[in-house]
Parts: sequence; structure tokens; C-alpha cells
Amino acid sequence: MSRKALWVAAASVLIGMLVLGLKTLAWWVTGSVALLSDALESIINVAASAAALIALNVSARPADSNHQYGHHKAEYLSAVLEGVLVVVAAFTIMREAYSGLLDPQLPDQPVKGMLLNGAATVINAVWCVLLLRVGKAYRSPALVADGKHVLTDVVTSVGVLAGFILVPVTGWPQLDPLIAGLVALNVLWTGWGLMKESVSGLMDEAASPDVVARIRELVSIHAAGALEAHDLRTRHAGRMTFVEFHLVVPGSMTVAAAHDICDRIEHAFEQDMDDTVITIHVEPEGEAKHSGVVVL
Ligand code: ZN
Ligand code: ZN
Repeated sequence: MSRKALWVAAASVLIGMLVLGLKTLAWWVTGSVALLSDALESIINVAASAAALIALNVSARPADSNHQYGHHKAEYLSAVLEGVLVVVAAFTIMREAYSGLLDPQLPDQPVKGMLLNGAATVINAVWCVLLLRVGKAYRSPALVADGKHVLTDVVTSVGVLAGFILVPVTGWPQLDPLIAGLVALNVLWTGWGLMKESVSGLMDEAASPDVVARIRELVSIHAAGALEAHDLRTRHAGRMTFVEFHLVVPGSMTVAAAHDICDRIEHAFEQDMDDTVITIHVEPEGEAKHSGVVVL
């Protein structure tokens, strides 16, 4: 992981805090529940950026004697933490929206609030475009995910602002907590997505079918001399994919020759697929299952 990506992730935390501060100020000035909900949503962004920073730092660490398969799952742990924060934020917003509905009030100083929240949204929008660009350039899923989070936040802010302008125009104070309720639902939805992603990672989800197809193809092309490969298993850990399978060779083949085949396959994976770790179990032909990847 390049140091630049780490700097970008750190900057994202700081910018998230600045945006959170502006949005909190906008709520403070107006007392609007909708603006409060937007500010609370920004807490998730700060948490998400912090999680991305931690994930980049920890998961990039090489394997050590204590974590011999690497530190890739750190990403999921931070995502779980993030998911918990998201749910807390959503319920806080719902509670505020409920009390707002019981005692609806027109916002104070709506123009000031709009300007503050608008400024925060503009900063967020610019940063979001930058993050997505840099994330793609460095091929960093953590940065791209962070950028997508900020994008959701920008979209919500635009909706909140549009609704907020309507409150003094229509003179209908209930609109304010209603917008907040919608934001809460959106926040919950984001949290659900985060949880789902991290849980499938923690549960060792297999590689997607197209990746598995590519793995089978690579094995069959580069395993000349072997008879077949079977019991192929894959699992994900962060950006890493762990691959293991049995390779059946003629019983009379020397260990050195069988090892050459394994090295050839491993080399092909290094060339073709980033971030894979392969373990090959060599077997004599009596173990053949005549299924799986048959090498001709
Ligand atoms: Zn076997
Ligand atoms: Zn070896």
C-alpha cells in the first residue's frame, strides 16, 4: 500500500470532521431535526474514513508469528464497528424525529443554517470526487468505499437541504422531522449493507463464480504433467483470496518434478491474479476422483 493512499485516508478523516462541525453548527443555529439528522449521518462518514485508515494501516502489515495468514481481516472488524455506529446514529435520529413530530417547530435562522449546511455539502462533494479518482488510481478498495460513503452523504444532504428550504416556504413544521425520518431509514440501509459485507468476509465467503472460473482455467493451462486437480476451495480475507486444491500426479513422478509443476502454477497466479495465496496438496494417481479440473 502506497504511503500516498494512507495520507489521503488521513485527510479524509480530517475533512469528515470539518464537515461534521459545519453541519452541527447548522443544526445548532436552526434547531432543525432534519439538519441534526444530516449531521449525525456525517458521524458515520468520519467513522468510515477512520475505519478505512485503520484498515489500510493494519491489513497492509505483513504476516507475523502471531498472525501467520496476514492481517487482512482487520478491515472487517472496523466495518463491524462502523455498522454498530450506523445503527446507533439511525435510532438517535428516529428518536429526535419522533419528539419533533410531537412538538413541531419552525427552524430559527433558516438562511444561516442553509448556508452552513450548504458549505459542508460542497466541501463533501469536492472531496468525494477526489477520493473516487485517487482510489481508482491506486486501486484501493478502502478509498473507493470511503468515496462512495461520502457520495451517499452528499446525496442525502442535497435532499435534506431541499426539504429544509420547503419548511419555511410551506410553513409546515412537521416536514422537518419527516425528512429526518427518511434520513434515518437511509442510514439504516447503509448500515445493513456494511454489516452484510463484513459478515460475508468474516464467514470466509468463497470467490465469485467468474474468479473461480479463471482459477480453474489457470490451473488447467499451467499444470501440464499432472493428471487432475480436485477439491478446489477458495475464501476471501480483505483483498486477499486464498486458494487451495489437490493436484494428482503419476505415482512414479519424482517429488522434484511434482514441485516444479506446483511452482509453475504458483508463478502463473502471481502473473495473472493479484493478491492470491495458493496451497497445493500433491497426490499420487490412486487418489484421482476423475472430477474437478482435469488436466490433459
Ligand atoms: Zn484429493
Ligand atoms: Zn515450494
